[in-house]
Amino acid sequence: MTQSSEPHRSARNEAISGLKREAFDAAEGRESTPSQDAALRHDWTVADVRAIHDLPFFELLDRARRTHLQFHGASEVQLCTLLSVKTGGCPEDCAYCPQSSHYETSVGKEKMLDEKQVLEAAERAKAEGSTRFCMGAAWREVKDGPAFDRVLSMVRGVKSLGLEACCTLGMLSPDQAKRLKEAGLDAYNHNLDTSRDAYRSIISTRTFDDRLATLRAVREAGITVCSGGIVGMGESIDDRCAMLVELARMTPHPESVPINALVRVEGTPLAALPPVDPVDFVRMIATARILMPRAMVRLSAGRKEMSRETQLLCMYAGANSIFYGDRLLTTGNPDCDIDRDLLAAAGAKPMAPSV
Ligand code: SF4
Repeated sequence: MTQSSEPHRSARNEAISGLKREAFDAAEGRESTPSQDAALRHDWTVADVRAIHDLPFFELLDRARRTHLQFHGASEVQLCTLLSVKTGGCPEDCAYCPQSSHYETSVGKEKMLDEKQVLEAAERAKAEGSTRFCMGAAWREVKDGPAFDRVLSMVRGVKSLGLEACCTLGMLSPDQAKRLKEAGLDAYNHNLDTSRDAYRSIISTRTFDDRLATLRAVREAGITVCSGGIVGMGESIDDRCAMLVELARMTPHPESVPINALVRVEGTPLAALPPVDPVDFVRMIATARILMPRAMVRLSAGRKEMSRETQLLCMYAGANSIFYGDRLLTTGNPDCDIDRDLLAAAGAKPMAPSV
């Protein structure tokens, strides 16, 4: 993988001419598209996506914005809260993660939270305006037994508060996905993280195909899919586009696509990488919006190091959700009052509950 500074524009005209113009237009939700459905494509290639990603910046923003307005309210942002219910000591070796037991970081192994602690946190999140509550456990995979049973109770409890419930627990079997669905789970997060090619340099303890198998189990159980990736792990622009292609070729598209900027945590192998270029990050948000028009594109980790202006540009380009609260699993996130100012600056209001 190489860092992300390669020029975007040189191949642009060539690449666009390699696309069918009408398909390109349809994907963007332009006026030539007769219906929203025509904008939903599942046959993307890396060249197609690269042609969109590399458009002149303002043209990319204009097209992403048009797509966004065709499918979503102009000024609504969903607030989500993500709580780590089982922190640290994970046997996986994800190179970005301070919870991996392979690295010496400030995050230690902790006991699993009990249901009461989780529901109190969910009530606080709801009072602050969150409508979606996500519970994360630092597990390689879900194992049947008391810990999973406790998660199922947490899901039932979160649902009883009138919140959308989401979990991220590692790999999942079809039967476990079914049990989560029966408990009322709305969404399961399992990020692809990066492209199939770049994946090997980030994680060695499971494969890209393992990720896809879990996402299939989630979909088949009738749970909505939350899957995205991380920008700034040393990947090339083609890697970024290839990751979006994997997601945008799914039928249906994931309902939720978190786009994260790498949080460079001391002790992890990626700690010394340079920060993501803000314009490159906005390009990823805009491209995800154009490719997956109906999805909630979630501006996720890394906001604490992002300027307010970058975050506003992300919202303009199609990000319609942020994680709210001062922690995002184990790393910092902007304070709620800073985010209230951010929404005010965007002229946006928190999205009403959907459940
Ligand atoms: S990202 Fe998840 S699976 Fe990977 S090390 Fe961290 S907690 Fe474990």
